[in-house]
Amino acid sequence: MAGWLGCFKEFHDAAAFQGEFRYNEPMSGHTTFQTGGPADLWIRPAGDCFPDYGAALLRFAQARGIPVFILGGGANLVVADAGIRGIALDTGGYTGALFPQDAGGGLPRVLVKAGTPMDALVDEAAERGWSGLEFLAGMPGTVGGAVWMNARCMEQSMSGVLEAAVILDEERRRVTVPLGPADFSYKKSPFQDRDALILAAVLRARPGSPERIRAEAARLRQDREQKGHYRAPSAGSVFKNNRAFGAPAGKIIDELGLRGLAIGGAMVAPWHGNFIINTGNAASADIRALTEALRERVHAARGIRLEPEIRFVGAW
Ligand SMILES: Cc1cc2nc3c(=O)[nH]c(=O)nc-3n(C[C@H](O)[C@H](O)[C@H](O)COP(=O)(O)OP(=O)(O)OC[C@H]3O[C@@H](n4cnc5c(N)ncnc54)[C@H](O)[C@@H]3O)c2cc1C
Repeated sequence: MAGWLGCFKEFHDAAAFQGEFRYNEPMSGHTTFQTGGPADLWIRPAGDCFPDYGAALLRFAQARGIPVFILGGGANLVVADAGIRGIALDTGGYTGALFPQDAGGGLPRVLVKAGTPMDALVDEAAERGWSGLEFLAGMPGTVGGAVWMNARCMEQSMSGVLEAAVILDEERRRVTVPLGPADFSYKKSPFQDRDALILAAVLRARPGSPERIRAEAARLRQDREQKGHYRAPSAGSVFKNNRAFGAPAGKIIDELGLRGLAIGGAMVAPWHGNFIINTGNAASADIRALTEALRERVHAARGIRLEPEIRFVGAW
């Protein structure tokens, strides 16, 4: 057991905490690939202790040089088989959305806590008759992860509906950062260059008919289902698309006949060139090796350097 865990216990016992924490927690239970070794310490604060406990924990860790990894829904991650050294701070217990009738300026805003599952937010918005978020229906992961990744589907990005983020900044102060599309680019957010914890997002929405919103969300979920998104454990698209390549990454992989290519338990989905799936016993190392093999094969055939969208994290 790492030496700092003793002083963590002292810190933790003195803090106001609700939720769960475990030592040597396998990350395979917290990632959609269902792979990844243990985090030295995994903590999921529940309820509204998250911001204060999170700030205290980050200060505690910073003072001792203990790395902290922020874990959302694990829907875009390949965690090393050796796991995560230090702390995995899981946002999944910090959920809920506040739907004001009108927060000024005539446009409604929705304040959503970072751990809220994206899909649950779409459902709640539909129930309350707030439109504009349904393009995210069926997307695994949390609101915080979607902001950090600038998640994108149906030709729309998270940045298109994001007005501000409430964060714990590098000094662990709670600040609200106003944001606009100019702060983001394709699958890139300003938080990728910062050491900040996203606590909540302020999103734009507009009044709409619950029936219409529900129908659109159901259509998009069905579309994902038909495309095989949920047929096997994965992290969605492996590679970013780039207009300069002339075709989507998945199409290039298809054209080279690489669907079904496998290394260990990892396989290019036979039904989707840009998905790698865990066929049941994949190690994260298999997924990484297959990702590299695809990059090499595409580079050799087309001279294109595909850029992974999935994130390799932990003790590689
Ligand atoms: C079947 C399937 C379909 C998918 N379809 C799409 C799609 O259409 N479009 C798309 O863009 N993606 C898609 N993805 C990928 C994934 O859903 C998104 O990337 C999602 O936004 C990841 O969110 P998460 O909460 O799981 O983040 P995680 O994977 O847990 O983390 C991703 C990164 O965000 C950071 N992070 C997470 N939360 C916070 C926080 N609160 N504060 C600071 N940093 C944080 C993490 O440290 C990590 O670096 C798909 C995945 C699957 C499995």
